Amino acid sequence: MSIAEMEIKKFEKTGCAENDVFYQAMEEVIYSIAPLLESDVKYTKNAVLERLIVPDRIIKFKVTWFDDNQNIKVNTGYRVQFNNALGPYKGGLRFHPSVNEGILKFLGFEQILKNSLTGLALGGAKGGSDFDPKGKSDFEVMKFCSAFMTELHKYIGPRIDIPAGDIGVGAREIGFLFGEYKKITSSYEGVLTGKPFMFGGSLMRPEATGYGVVYFTERMLELEKKEPLKGKICTVSGSGNVALHAIEKLQQIGAITVSCSDSSGTLYDPRGVDIVLLKELKLVNRGSLTEYLKTYPDAKYIPTSDYPEGGHAVWNIPCYAAFPCATQNELTEIDAQNLIKNGCVSVSEGANMPSTAQATNLFLYNKICFAPAKAANAGGVVVSSFEMSQNAAMARWTFEEVDEKLKITMQQICTRVALTAKDYGVEGNYVDGANIAGFKKVADAMMAEGI
Ligand code: NDP
Repeated sequence: MSIAEMEIKKFEKTGCAENDVFYQAMEEVIYSIAPLLESDVKYTKNAVLERLIVPDRIIKFKVTWFDDNQNIKVNTGYRVQFNNALGPYKGGLRFHPSVNEGILKFLGFEQILKNSLTGLALGGAKGGSDFDPKGKSDFEVMKFCSAFMTELHKYIGPRIDIPAGDIGVGAREIGFLFGEYKKITSSYEGVLTGKPFMFGGSLMRPEATGYGVVYFTERMLELEKKEPLKGKICTVSGSGNVALHAIEKLQQIGAITVSCSDSSGTLYDPRGVDIVLLKELKLVNRGSLTEYLKTYPDAKYIPTSDYPEGGHAVWNIPCYAAFPCATQNELTEIDAQNLIKNGCVSVSEGANMPSTAQATNLFLYNKICFAPAKAANAGGVVVSSFEMSQNAAMARWTFEEVDEKLKITMQQICTRVALTAKDYGVEGNYVDGANIAGFKKVADAMMAEGI
């Protein structure tokens, strides 16, 4: 039995389906770090894995609020404070009906290694609620956010735990959460990142994750001696914060992005999507992607229900580089086969764990340049840390300053991942490189801090 199999055997699976994504993330990490565990017994001797995969604490609470018709609504709120060996807990809040403890454990676990990879002094956490902001009025979102923060404020603070946004939590929600925190605590401090610029947010935080994934990909293609993205066809999934800004950056560097998607279907515009229109439709009007066809009737919208089960239309479009930026496990084995068959050279994960384990293995086996989420989408947390620095110093950096620092940091992360993979005999495997580099730093800190 291999060392990875022995480690995995130690963890009793609960049989509860909601933990599946957490086990998926954990098993990938354990298989990846096997070369490190084999080369140095101190990690198994000190039971670092057993300690790392159990969150420090999971906070679960009731959120009660009034809708616009004065009906009382009840949701569940969570904060998973996973590990603070490297610094205060840090990670986003997700508001989506699918949110449960298992999803947040998976996201929190990934966040520990992501934050470690950035080189910043940040621990890992994640939180959120099964509340769905979609279709709610601004007033309802505000009522919910106030009720959510009434509980959450007890557990967070600028040196304790600093939440940010994620799916369903953008500048509007962060604004309402910040306002309530300020009211309850009477203190004006950088307890949340992703704040609007007018009250302490950093310029470029909305763009950070999407731009960052493109910066990472450019560096990876350079290191792997592949052609750059300029002039190449790219496909992107999702049409939220990460997807739209990835498309915007791809367009700025001269790539042609022909797709985006939402939970109902895929938009395909072979001339390249109009990002200005998309931003207006999704970020300003919060409308549907089908609205795009009113301006561009030649573009196609392929409903998810029209596509054969098990795959997604967006990954059947021939491309040089693919950017899954919607949600976990949105890119399946069938999708990976289609991408490979159509000549795709590079896949970069903007969303958290968008590729299934089978899809990831196919990419690695076929030597596709594969940028895993915990490295490629670290741009959001990087600029969040810039926001924390600006808040602490009461400073304001320009857009260009933040952008330049982000680009350099993403390139450094990419190089660190590539070098680590080489050092451990898995050159070109950015999954193993990211997991080993991220794990090693947290594990060394945990051992140095005692049990
Ligand atoms: P948003 O809420 O802004 O957008 C999410 C997008 O994904 C929407 O277009 C949504 O469509 C789509 N989507 C959701 N579920 C599905 C599904 N099952 N199938 C297809 N599309 C789906 O979220 P973000 O852009 O902020 O986050 C996207 C991903 O990036 C998440 O995995 C998140 O964890 C990750 N991430 C985000 C960071 C950030 O800075 N925001 C930082 C690092 C990672 P619809 O509108 O129809 O629901």
